[in-house]
Amino acid sequence: MLDRFNRRINYLRISVTDRCNLRCRYCMPENDPCMLSHEDILTFEEIRQVVAVAAQAGISKVRLTGGEPLVRKDITALVAMIASVPGVDDLAMTTNAVLLDKFAVPLKEAGLQRINVSLDTVDPVKFRDITRGGELRKVFQGIEAAKATGLHPIKINCVVKKGAERKDAIAVAEFCGRNGLEIRYIQEMDLEKGDFAVVEGGSGGDCRSCNRLRLTSDGKIKPCLFSDLAYDIRELGIQPALEMALGNKPREGSVNQQNLFHNIGG
Ligand code: SAM
Ligand code: SF4
Repeated sequence: MLDRFNRRINYLRISVTDRCNLRCRYCMPENDPCMLSHEDILTFEEIRQVVAVAAQAGISKVRLTGGEPLVRKDITALVAMIASVPGVDDLAMTTNAVLLDKFAVPLKEAGLQRINVSLDTVDPVKFRDITRGGELRKVFQGIEAAKATGLHPIKINCVVKKGAERKDAIAVAEFCGRNGLEIRYIQEMDLEKGDFAVVEGGSGGDCRSCNRLRLTSDGKIKPCLFSDLAYDIRELGIQPALEMALGNKPREGSVNQQNLFHNIGG
């Protein structure tokens, strides 16, 4: 499907939960991040229906994100449901990989094709600080399990602060080189201030070629990460919400004052 600026929209990013087992400083408040209630969160069947309608309209790439997708109960069942939707030919996930060692095999079996892992440092002390308590060892185990399972390619999302020294980012690149992983650098963004940049080595952040729509965990289709526009599938119906998101996709991002990264998905 084409939007009004002639961009081909074929990519849907789905936030399956606003919850997370880490608390990265740039993504999520430390305490009481105001989680959605169980009834607000889309059911697996609702998510499958959105994917089915979107796929009929031309979406062929789907990515599951969050929050942390692996903390959503029975996530492998959702992966299998989405993988079986006709027209979905690329199914990926973005994860912090803390739980990936136990999920890599069932995810692959369910039809997940590839994975992005977020990793900003290979120093366990800094990792614990950035994520407010995360264990780097678990991430390494998760990456190993994903490699062994054949999830390919494995891309590493490395967030770098604007203007900050890149020592950690370089060490992450070296780690990727040694382990057959692809790195992409994401500049730390600020949704509220409208501060975003093109992803180095990736496809995000360039409004002229943006091919994305987003689905939040509480059922809003958003045409742009840096916009407050949101169309509720439960209020409007899936097809109308999708059409409105497509029809109103802005030429370029501005600000998003309604979301934090953990509840829209990066
Ligand atoms: N929990 C999963 C993870 O961390 O990979 C998926 C959700 S997370 C919100 C998705 C991506 O958004 C991650 O790669 C994360 O680094 C990125 N992200 C979160 N906050 C960000 C920010 N303020 N600026 C840029 N990227 C951010
Ligand atoms: Fe959780 Fe991912 Fe946000 Fe870190 S970036 S707090 S792992 S959702």
